[in-house]
Amino acid sequence: MNPYEFPPSAVNVSERPGRGSRAALVALVRERLTPRAALVALVRERLLRPVTLVALVMAIAVLVAGQGCGQSGRVGRRLLLVGIDGAEWSVIEPMIAEGRLPNLARLIDEGASCGLRSLEPKEKSPTIWTTIATGKLPRKHGIGDYVDSGSGRLMTSNTRTARTVWDILGSEGWTVAVVGWLISWPAEPVNGSMVTDYFRHGPKPGRPLPEHLTYPDELLEEIEPLRLSPDGVTKEDVARFADLDTVMSPEEIQGLPLEEMLVEMNGLSSIDATVEALKGLHAGDRTFLAAARHLMTRRRPDATFVYLRGVDTASHKFWAAAHRGKVGFAVSRSEEAAFARTVERYYEYADEMLGQLLSDFGDGGTVIVCSDHGFEGPKPGRRPGGIRDHGPVGILVMAGDDVRRGVRIDEQSVRDITPTILTLFGLPVAADMDGEPITDAVTESFLADHPVRSIDTYETPEGSFDES
Ligand SMILES: [Zn+2]
Repeated sequence: MNPYEFPPSAVNVSERPGRGSRAALVALVRERLTPRAALVALVRERLLRPVTLVALVMAIAVLVAGQGCGQSGRVGRRLLLVGIDGAEWSVIEPMIAEGRLPNLARLIDEGASCGLRSLEPKEKSPTIWTTIATGKLPRKHGIGDYVDSGSGRLMTSNTRTARTVWDILGSEGWTVAVVGWLISWPAEPVNGSMVTDYFRHGPKPGRPLPEHLTYPDELLEEIEPLRLSPDGVTKEDVARFADLDTVMSPEEIQGLPLEEMLVEMNGLSSIDATVEALKGLHAGDRTFLAAARHLMTRRRPDATFVYLRGVDTASHKFWAAAHRGKVGFAVSRSEEAAFARTVERYYEYADEMLGQLLSDFGDGGTVIVCSDHGFEGPKPGRRPGGIRDHGPVGILVMAGDDVRRGVRIDEQSVRDITPTILTLFGLPVAADMDGEPITDAVTESFLADHPVRSIDTYETPEGSFDES
């Protein structure tokens, strides 16, 4: 028996472990817990409630029988995907050469890396991240923007019209944690935990928090203390990214020729707002990093998906300061002095976050680091901001047991991430996906044991993970 056919593969959708407790049980037994230990773990996780003990005992009998059929092939299928919005090779490569991104450098050395082509024509980040999570183009997944151009309403997870890779993995019995992913609110039922993108926004005065910030809803209380508000970012935190004590004094500015003086005054007047923006983007990353680490260490999900936005926002805000004189508009000397190194320092911080996530993840399984697009900065004559600043090619770095070591492979596409993850979990790729598994990154021995398979679709009415 093919080890990948237990639990039943997506081909037999009617037999999928659709119930949370059964899926959790499958996951626990796969982790080589004895059925008894799995039962104890289930009680501990309070997942036992929905099934009767009789049904559970029968389920265990089935699972134990299944173990005889070589379930070892599924043991160890683990994933950590870290999405770094806007990460750009032309920033990363010189920094790696200087030894400033040690964690990413190690993954590159030990794994496979390449440029990751974004969607064309350029799309906004929620659209691209939804393509990354579904393997489908926007016309199939339905997320065109932050806001629906027709109705003017915010895009939500309810407007997505394609299944996500974490939903597919959950239905197949793997546990997942999804943290910060764009357009993940309201939280959908998953076989594990979800912390939606809206979690980082704290309560607004006089207004209740939106519902379903997390799945399950009870998770919110547990992780609420991990949310860092922009006010919680200290002077010392800011000093790590910005050199605020080097800005020009009003006296120095007054001595400048008129035109320069105006530029400097303008720059000086905007510095407070810029620092606030820096605090905001940093608080968001810190919040989701803390939530992801909390879930990884306490829930031990098989597959963790973390989205970190700070690099892109920092690039939009601070690229011009690092390229004064090359962006086609005036950047004050004060802004240059304060923020010229902010983008690079933020990449260093992203590498630190990556290192922490890697240490929580531990050995075994696959690590994927990717971005939705690259970054080019504002064109001459243009103000910074929006997708105009984005570059057409982002980054992909993969490493792990089944990934080739130390290879630079040809450019791939954001559409290929989901098919690649499914392949590494031994699941078929769906013919209605728009990407292909990145087999160039996968070891020959893995592909020999687990050839790429295909099914028509994962989109079936009863397909999604169902907690009921
Ligand atoms: Zn951007």
